[in-house]
Amino acid sequence: MQMMQAMVLSRPGQPLQMEHRPLPEPRAGELRLRVLACAVCRTDLHVVDGDLPLPVLPIVPGHEIVGVVEALGAGVDAHRIGDRVGVPWLGHSCGHCPFCAGGSENLCDTPRFTGYHRDGGFASHVVAEADFCLPLGMLTQEPARIAPLMCAGLIGWRCLKAAGESARRLGLYGFGAAAHLIAQVAAAQGRQVHAFTRPGDIAGQAFARSLGAAWAGDADQLPAAPLDAAIIFAPAGELVPAALRAVRKGGRVVCGGIHMSDIPSFPYRLLWEERQLVSVANLTRGDGREFLMVAQAHPPQVHTTTYPLTQANEALAALRAGRVKGAAVLLP
Ligand SMILES: [Zn+2]
Ligand SMILES: [Zn+2]
Repeated sequence: MQMMQAMVLSRPGQPLQMEHRPLPEPRAGELRLRVLACAVCRTDLHVVDGDLPLPVLPIVPGHEIVGVVEALGAGVDAHRIGDRVGVPWLGHSCGHCPFCAGGSENLCDTPRFTGYHRDGGFASHVVAEADFCLPLGMLTQEPARIAPLMCAGLIGWRCLKAAGESARRLGLYGFGAAAHLIAQVAAAQGRQVHAFTRPGDIAGQAFARSLGAAWAGDADQLPAAPLDAAIIFAPAGELVPAALRAVRKGGRVVCGGIHMSDIPSFPYRLLWEERQLVSVANLTRGDGREFLMVAQAHPPQVHTTTYPLTQANEALAALRAGRVKGAAVLLP
């Protein structure tokens, strides 16, 4: 029997354990991929640490997967054996709830997320629904530099769209995997990027400037002139009043994370004057196709720190400690 390797979460708060499992066969509508690279997202950390309710245990985390198609289930004709495809967070949507019907499959009532409801990419192989895989044939970079696009890039892109086209002066709070990609996209669009990092993170601020940020400083600082919009990527609730304070009248603050510490109370005047506070949840396949076209037209520099699959726990620890510059990526 052919076997695969997977790093498995059995209980939140416990390290992932390496398991050897029989290679799964794809069912109708599914693909089996040999994983080439899987980036580590902050959401994986929220899963492993039990910050999010866990609907399925044990589970293999990982939803920024680049793989090569190895086996096709019945009825799959959009992908072929040998194709390079990406598997993002949205692994399934129902197609008929009011949100799916209204074009917001990211808000589906009964979604299935990769590495959360179904086993993900911290593994040598993964099975995914073919309709939710993104074709990657047009990207020529090595897999480790494509994997972070699958969530950090995609969610960042959805956040950038939520910030609005008119947001020329844009703040990014938290300069991790998503911000390092989206800063480059925003700068290429002619926006003026302001990067806000943990206070005193001089290296992070220099990194932001090297990727096109016009200004970089501490998250508790105010920009020289008010921002049109800000995106919060860091999971720290105190950044919400900080970002509201930094945006102009009518400006918008977008929360991009799936989990955030509690937002401290703040005076109403920070929200008044038609400032808006919104969140972005998940992604649609349309976001994926759109962002991949952007990434093909203006390939962002993707900074990665790679780890062998067996060191998934070390990669998670580095991310938890804020020690990763750019994106952490696991290689089977
Ligand atoms: Zn993610
Ligand atoms: Zn639905």
